[in-house]
Amino acid sequence: MIPPTPCYVVDEQLLTQNLKILGSVRKETGCRILLAQKAFSMFSVYPLIGKYLDGAASSSLFEARLAREEMGKEVHIYAPAYRDDEFGEILKYSDHIVFNSFSQWEKYRAAVRECPRKISCGIRVNPEYSEIETGIYDPCGEFSRLGVTLSNFRPEELDGVEGLHFHTLCEQGAETLDRTLRVFEEKFGRFLSAMKWVNFGGGHHITKPGYNLALLKDCIRRVRDKYGVQVYLEPGEAIALNTGFLISTVLDVTENGMGIAILDTSAACHMPDVLEMPYRPEIVGAGRPGELQITYRLGGPTCLAGDVIGDYSFREPLKPGDRLVFCDMAIYSMVKNNTFNGIGLPAILLYGESEGFRMVRQFGYEDFKTRLS
Ligand SMILES: *Cc1c(COP(=O)(O)O)cnc(C)c1O
Repeated sequence: MIPPTPCYVVDEQLLTQNLKILGSVRKETGCRILLAQKAFSMFSVYPLIGKYLDGAASSSLFEARLAREEMGKEVHIYAPAYRDDEFGEILKYSDHIVFNSFSQWEKYRAAVRECPRKISCGIRVNPEYSEIETGIYDPCGEFSRLGVTLSNFRPEELDGVEGLHFHTLCEQGAETLDRTLRVFEEKFGRFLSAMKWVNFGGGHHITKPGYNLALLKDCIRRVRDKYGVQVYLEPGEAIALNTGFLISTVLDVTENGMGIAILDTSAACHMPDVLEMPYRPEIVGAGRPGELQITYRLGGPTCLAGDVIGDYSFREPLKPGDRLVFCDMAIYSMVKNNTFNGIGLPAILLYGESEGFRMVRQFGYEDFKTRLS
């Protein structure tokens, strides 16, 4: 099969390689690892992910339901605030519920207690320490709404709370985790011995080449042994890092002071992090501007002037019909895409060594129309 474009392709072998690394961390430390669905919610591979990991972390009712329906292992949820009209259903799907404040905990603790299913509750804390430079990704910035700071912590209201949660990393190494843990322990360690679990959140770049796995394992074992708690990690990126591609076709090639290629994929619709983060995705066989023979600005098919993926150089001139393969497109892509400008959603495919390409889902006009009225 020749995949239609644009399409996301997730490579099962590459995904399995990541899952094996995560599986070895679990096995050697006894920690539990959850898929943070916010980064990657391709539920057709949840059964594969469920073979290696303990379950999924959710940030909304719908994510919790998806995890329950499609993975069926541990379902954890955290949200900055819960809605009264959704909390009853959240109780049906969730094994762990993490509250962002003591007021939320107070509001909902009776409902949790009355629920016939056993649900373990935790509080998200803000250790006020992070090494993130980009403001919109820093949960410890000034006036952050995410998590309880030590000065707002209410030890007298911990009855029934079984865990603490923090999430302060973003694409970072175990060295950052190690330094974060020192601060977290100094501030909140005294409450930890009374807890059953601690959740180190996401942002751990565990499957990136060069990641210090030995230090991660040391951190987990140290906290586990010192406080007698079950350690959880909930990485998103690390699970599907470098396992997916976005294949696109060149629609037209023009010129305005430099070569311009219009693609059938859009930065705004299909890779919004390219504009938001911002970052530059790799393209197979292409180089930085000026590095190879001929440089083009690659742009999307929308009317947004800024729908530009970036400037890339190629060995040969581009022509309509050429295919370009963008790398590392599994994470924060499918979960964020949209139909702005009436642009269709990319198809979703799996690739396996023996099976080749398999179509998982194609989208059409109805997917555009049903979100409008
Ligand atoms: C975003 C998020 C994650 C996953 O983060 P990654 O950077 O994708 O690993 C985990 N937990 C919480 C609470 C998050 O907000």
